[in-house]
Amino acid sequence: MTRNYHTHTSRCFHAKGADVDYAAAAKQSGFSAIGFSDHSPWPFRDYVSGMRMPASALDDYAQSVYAVREQYKGALDILFGLECEYFPQYLPWLCAMAEKYALQYVILGHHFCGDEPGGVYNGSLTTAEGVLRYQKDVCDAMRTGLFSYVAHPDLYMRGYPVFDKVCEQAARAIIETAIETQTPLEYNLLGLQHSKADGKTGYPHQRFWDLVAEYKATAIIGIDAHTPDAYLDLATIEAAETFLREKGIPVTDRIRLLTD
Ligand SMILES: [Zn+2]
Ligand SMILES: [Zn+2]
Repeated sequence: MTRNYHTHTSRCFHAKGADVDYAAAAKQSGFSAIGFSDHSPWPFRDYVSGMRMPASALDDYAQSVYAVREQYKGALDILFGLECEYFPQYLPWLCAMAEKYALQYVILGHHFCGDEPGGVYNGSLTTAEGVLRYQKDVCDAMRTGLFSYVAHPDLYMRGYPVFDKVCEQAARAIIETAIETQTPLEYNLLGLQHSKADGKTGYPHQRFWDLVAEYKATAIIGIDAHTPDAYLDLATIEAAETFLREKGIPVTDRIRLLTD
């Protein structure tokens, strides 16, 4: 793995460090390319999110990533992206921003269904209806062709108590649609740390990845860096590579770009 497209910045209020420090750490670990994919702002009405930059910070985010790209020219490729939910009502706005700022890619990080205000975090779902809504949205999102890959596709297992029939049905639908749309599914390294901290299996979930292996769907490893140090944790990266190789799951580190 020499390319990682899942990197946050301090603008989302729960990541730390200067943008350039992420690039420095990635370079130190021998990466050839990194993508910044901070949580996308959305044009909410009368609502301020605590987990994403306001729309007014997008300009600073873009200028900062461009500056890091200039600074690392020839040493490390820097891509400019966003991690976005599938909120169909805001897609025209996102596409306008993508054009304005020469956005190179978006990854699907579906943290809420429908909208963030009034929504339930998809990492704390406890009902079958919630899981099926999540699955439908993720499949619909893949079919738009907008998203380069699905971040933490098994996020719904973070809060759900057991991997039951509904979870399997959701996993199969997500994996089948990923194959149909040639969308890589992310094996998320931050999720591994959450699982350790929570003291239980959340995501990546063993049963979900057993099914990915059964279908031989394509995986991509995502660090989901919220601190520059995440790029220095080579043991976790190697463990993920070993896990996927031993399961016979094909892994890519290339993604479709909006500019392709
Ligand atoms: Zn996410
Ligand atoms: Zn993320």
